[in-house]
Amino acid sequence: MLALDRAHLVHPVANWRGHEQRGATVLQSGRGAWLRDAEGRELLDAFAGLWCVNIGYGHDSVVEAAARQMRKLPYATGYFGFSSEPAIELAAKLVEIAPAGLDHVYLTLGGSEAVDAAVRLIVQYYNSTGRPRKKQFISIERGYHGSSSTGAGLTALPAFHRGFDLPRPEQHYIASPYPYRNPAGRDAKAVIASSVAALRAKVNELGAENVAAYFCEPIQGSGGVIVPPVGWLKAMREACRELDILFVADEVITGFGRTGPMFACDAEGVSPDLMTVAKGLTSGYAPMGALLMSERVYAGIADGTPSGAVVGHGATYSAHPVSAAVALEVIRLYEEGGILANGQRVARHFESGLQAMLRHPLVGDARSRGLLGALELVSDKVTKERFDPALDLPDRLAAAGYRNGLIFRAFGDGILGFAPALCYTPSEFEAMFERLQRTLDEVLDQP
Ligand code: PMP
Repeated sequence: MLALDRAHLVHPVANWRGHEQRGATVLQSGRGAWLRDAEGRELLDAFAGLWCVNIGYGHDSVVEAAARQMRKLPYATGYFGFSSEPAIELAAKLVEIAPAGLDHVYLTLGGSEAVDAAVRLIVQYYNSTGRPRKKQFISIERGYHGSSSTGAGLTALPAFHRGFDLPRPEQHYIASPYPYRNPAGRDAKAVIASSVAALRAKVNELGAENVAAYFCEPIQGSGGVIVPPVGWLKAMREACRELDILFVADEVITGFGRTGPMFACDAEGVSPDLMTVAKGLTSGYAPMGALLMSERVYAGIADGTPSGAVVGHGATYSAHPVSAAVALEVIRLYEEGGILANGQRVARHFESGLQAMLRHPLVGDARSRGLLGALELVSDKVTKERFDPALDLPDRLAAAGYRNGLIFRAFGDGILGFAPALCYTPSEFEAMFERLQRTLDEVLDQP
C-alpha cells in the first residue's frame, strides 16, 4: 500500500513529511475519538480528522441515512427546475439553526467552493444593484479561505501563494488580531481597537465605493488557531455595517459546535451578511459545504425564476442529495443526540489541559475556545522568540505524537493545533494530555 501510495496518489499540500519518514500512515477504521491504522495501532484523534469529524467516527445512523438516500435516489441536479427532498429539508434546517437573517442557502461540495460562490455572488449582487465598482475584497493576515485560486488569494499565508500571482490585485489584507503577538498588547480593548482601525484604514485607502466585502474566520484556524478576544467579532461586524461593506463569516471550522454554540457568531449575537460552512456540516461522512446569505443579498442575485436560481453560478454536485441526507442526520445527532451539549460540557477539560501545558518552559501560549485550541512553542518565554525553523520542531512533535498514539496538527511557527471531536469523554481528555505531555517531554528536552 505504501509503495502504491508513493507511486500514484497525489497528496494535498502538507508541511508534514510522514511519520517515521516512511510515507503516509494508512488509516483503516475509526470509532468515537479513536482511529486504527493499517498496522493495528490505536490512535487518539485530537484533530477530528481535519477539524471536521465533530461527531466522532462510526455512527451507524449516518451510514444508514446515506444508504437509504442512495437506494432511493442517488443523484438529482439542482438545475433546470429540479430539486430533491433532502436538499430542501437541509436548506430549511440550516436557516432554522443559523444566525438570524440568513434565509437562503446555496449547497456546495466543500468549503473552498462555498467561498468561491460567495465571491462570485457578491460581485453579481453589486452588479445588479447598480454599484459594479465594489469589487475589492479584504481578509486578514494568517487567514485561510480555501484552495481554489480565489480562496487561496483571500488566504493570507505565503505557502498558498508561492509561484502564483496571488493575491490578485483586488485582494487585500489587514493585520491579524493575534493577541499573543499584537503590537498593541493582549488587552481585549486594545486588540479590538487595532483590528477596527486597520479595517477602517484599509477601506479608506481603497475607497469605500470600491470595497465589496470583508471575509473573516471568527477564530483563525489554519493560520495557527488565533483566538481573538470576546467582542472582536461583533466589533468587526459593526464596522462593516458602518463602512457599507458586506461582512462574510467563514465558519468552515468554527461552525457546528466547534467553539461551543452551534456557530461562533451565535456567541456574540452576530448576524453576518453571508456565512460559509462545511466540515462539521457532514462531520466528514460525505463532502458538502454551504453558503448562507441574507434576503438582501439573495434578492440581488436571484434570476427571477420561480425555482429561485442565482445568476451565473452552479456545479454538477451542488445540493447533492446523499450529502444532504448525511448532513441532516449529523445535525440531528448534534441536537437530539446530545453531541453539541456534550462538547459544551467537556470543553473545560480541554481548556484546563491546555492551560496546564503552560508550565512547560517552552510553551509560550495556550489558547482555546470551546474545542478549538493551540499551544504556541517559543525558545524564550520572555522575548517570545520562535524556534529556529531548521529544527523542524512541529514535524518532529507530530511524529513523536503519532508514536505515542496521539494525532494533532503541527503548524509552522511552532504552533500545535487541536480540535477534538465533540464526543470526547473526560477520560479521553486525560489520555490526550498524558500523551501530549509525554510527546513534549521527549522532543523538547532534547532539541
Ligand atoms: N475556509 C476555512 C476557514 C477553512 O478552514 C477551510 C478548510 N480548511 C476552507 C475554507 C476550505 O474548505 P475545503 O477544504 O472544504 O474546501
